[in-house]
Amino acid sequence: MSMVSSSRLLLAITVAASVVLGFLGVLYLLASAMEPMRLWVGIILIGIALVLVAFVSKSLVKPPPITVHWSPSGAVKLEELKCPSCSAPLRIENPSVTRVVCQYCGRTIEIVEEPKW
Ligand SMILES: [Zn+2]
Repeated sequence: MSMVSSSRLLLAITVAASVVLGFLGVLYLLASAMEPMRLWVGIILIGIALVLVAFVSKSLVKPPPITVHWSPSGAVKLEELKCPSCSAPLRIENPSVTRVVCQYCGRTIEIVEEPKW
C-alpha cells in the first residue's frame, strides 16, 4: 500500500468516525431529558467529533507545493537543493523523486528537471 492511499484511507476513517460520533452525540443530547448523565456523554462525543473534523480539515488544507527548477547536468547538485520556504537543505535519497517534503517546515517541494541547453 502506498503512502498516499493509506493516508486517504485514514482520512476516510476519520471522517466516518466523526460523523458517527457526532450522530451519537446528538442522540445522547436528545435523550438527556430522561437522564442528565447523557448530556455529558453527548457533549463529549460531539467534542471528539469536532476535534476529528478539525484534524481532517487541517490535513485537507495544505499549502500548494513549491516548484524548484534544477538542471541535472548543470552545476546544481541534488545535495545543494534548498527549501525555498525556509532555506533548509533538502535531503533527496532518490534522484528520480519529483516531490520532497521539507523536514523543517513541512512544505511540499516539487522538483522539476530543467535542462539548460
Ligand atoms: Zn522548509
